[in-house]
Amino acid sequence: MKYNLSKFQTLVETFEALPTIGKKTAQRLAYHIAINDPFLGKKLSFAIENAITHVCKCTKCGFICEDELCNICLDETRNSDILCIVQSSKDIFAIEETSNFTGKYFVIDELNMHNIESLKEIVVHNKTKEVLFAITPSLANEAFILFIEDKLNGYDLQFTKLAQGVPTGVSLENVDLLSLSKSIEIRVKA
Ligand SMILES: [Zn+2]
Repeated sequence: MKYNLSKFQTLVETFEALPTIGKKTAQRLAYHIAINDPFLGKKLSFAIENAITHVCKCTKCGFICEDELCNICLDETRNSDILCIVQSSKDIFAIEETSNFTGKYFVIDELNMHNIESLKEIVVHNKTKEVLFAITPSLANEAFILFIEDKLNGYDLQFTKLAQGVPTGVSLENVDLLSLSKSIEIRVKA
């Protein structure tokens, strides 16, 4: 049987393009929104539009925010002595959830000169004393750490990384809170 469901199909395909969403789930979501709860669909569409317009990256640390600077950069009660380097904003959510870190952050999602220059600026501006690499252990990430340490050579910094307890190759958002919290507390020399 031939039927024209091109608009429905476009919605399914759009959901399917999202991470972790397979075809079945995409169809279920599209059906739910188009037939069961169109009001939720409108709300979703508005929330997406609004987020795309207003959510951006903090110009200082790279964390997601809705203004030029994020709440963490603006928070003067946080400890500027220690700067935690992560590879994704999602890792900051995970670390913040442990409530065991009160320093500042810097997101390096890509090793390029622009990011390294921004990192140097924040180190100077914050008068950073310790750089903590909150990065999951792997060979590639060891190289990542060495590269950054080399670029920050001459800034009189202590380099540390998460202690054992964060499993190799697992992204921080998937590490259980207790292990992550402990590995921040008993961090080791990098
Ligand atoms: Zn920030």
